[in-house]
Amino acid sequence: MRLALDEAGRAARGGDVPVGAVVLAADGTTVLAAGHNEREATGDPTAHAEVLAVRRAAARLGEWRLAGCTLVVTLEPCTMCAGALVQSRVDRVVYGARDDKAGAAGSLWDVVRDRRLNHRPEVIEGVLAGECAALLTDFFRAR
Ligand SMILES: [Zn+2]
Repeated sequence: MRLALDEAGRAARGGDVPVGAVVLAADGTTVLAAGHNEREATGDPTAHAEVLAVRRAAARLGEWRLAGCTLVVTLEPCTMCAGALVQSRVDRVVYGARDDKAGAAGSLWDVVRDRRLNHRPEVIEGVLAGECAALLTDFFRAR
């Protein structure tokens, strides 16, 4: 989560909402890829931290299945990212702050654990939640 927070800081410095993500390999420690929000930086509406990290991890592994991998993100994934996480077959999703307005991993929806889908990653929430949320609060307060 510390690495994801570093990534979130990079997003903020680029004028993007500070959300950062990393993908850990099946061994649970090797960092396969990282990403941060780049919507403003790239003008791409899908450039969320999780999507970028998952794409980079798949490119590094040379396949789309991220079986055994863990995605760590500072903010609860939105519906798009939750869908991408299900599609990537990650084993585990770890997030910091809840997103009561748009979260799709337990708050507004629970896409990642929807029993109608054939893949349901384990979800661990609330890791360094205070720090993750403070980064966002500070960012929006400064605007
Ligand atoms: Zn998202």
